[in-house]
Amino acid sequence: SSSPLIVSFGEMLIDFVPDVAGVSLAESTGFLKAPGGAPANVACAITRLGGSSAFIGKVGDDEFGRMLVDILKQNGVNSEGVCFDKEARTALAFVTLKTNGEREFMFYRNPSADMLLKESELNMGLIKNAKIFHYGSISLISEPCRSAHMAAMKAAKNAGILLSYDPNVRLPLWPSPEAARDGIKSIWNYADFVKVSDDEVAFLTNGDPQKEDVVLSLWSNNLKLLLVTDGEKGCRYFTKNLKGKVEGFSVKAVDTTGAGDAFVGAFLVAMAKDPNIFNDEGKLKEALVFANACGAICTTQKGAIPALPTTAQAMELVKS
Ligand code: ADP
Repeated sequence: SSSPLIVSFGEMLIDFVPDVAGVSLAESTGFLKAPGGAPANVACAITRLGGSSAFIGKVGDDEFGRMLVDILKQNGVNSEGVCFDKEARTALAFVTLKTNGEREFMFYRNPSADMLLKESELNMGLIKNAKIFHYGSISLISEPCRSAHMAAMKAAKNAGILLSYDPNVRLPLWPSPEAARDGIKSIWNYADFVKVSDDEVAFLTNGDPQKEDVVLSLWSNNLKLLLVTDGEKGCRYFTKNLKGKVEGFSVKAVDTTGAGDAFVGAFLVAMAKDPNIFNDEGKLKEALVFANACGAICTTQKGAIPALPTTAQAMELVKS
């Protein structure tokens, strides 16, 4: 397609989503095997909306890894940047669902293949062809992937590509909360655009995420736009000159997994088309209404990738 390429970088994994909400993992009787991993979700959200994306990451040379690459292909995502680890297995996430669709995770990462991505395995050609590089990995924690991730980001930055960042904080994966805060800051300082949730603002600042000065304490010099999502309530936006709130949509949520990724994917499609979106409040708000609709629709079905909306579905909700 002729739309600008968005490269999404990080994990692709299997989410095991329980049949029944409101019970513990131990009480779960059955699971839906759903493709996921935030950056893979973002890549698929983009193509579902008619944009152009590539995914870069690593999976195991196993049934799950091959299934995930097939899913990228079926979704029209460029998978040339995916590599296979010969030994380690594809990462797995075990999800518990609350009755409001909110969820908690447990991971199989022992280490998983994604954690063993090496700098020498990066497809730099893909990165340099991108208009936007989106980083959303939960794996910045250990080597060798930590160095590979930093190298990919620096290559994108040196090539003058817009850098998008969603920290996707999964606290139990980090050695300590301080390590998580430091790791996240080391990426944040490069980013042109950051999306965080309310809960992440609370974690990163130890403050009340509803307060503007608390959010703005996270501002960094390179930043052009900071979006703070707040579930069904929608999102808030902050640029150097603008700030405001865009209401969410009321839907019956069954599984919120992937809502943030649907939201980010939708916003990146708008950002790729119009780099001036950061300065034009009308266009910014229009893109955020649409992104909120995409996030809302994603909560109405189990799993992340299977629940991502098309442009027509999102427009229908916007107009309702
Ligand atoms: P994350 O999935 O990253 O935790 P949020 O839960 O804040 O992020 O969701 C991202 C966006 O998805 C929200 O800003 C909103 O637009 C939409 N969304 C999420 N949960 C719901 C919900 N229960 N009802 C309607 N929209 C939702």
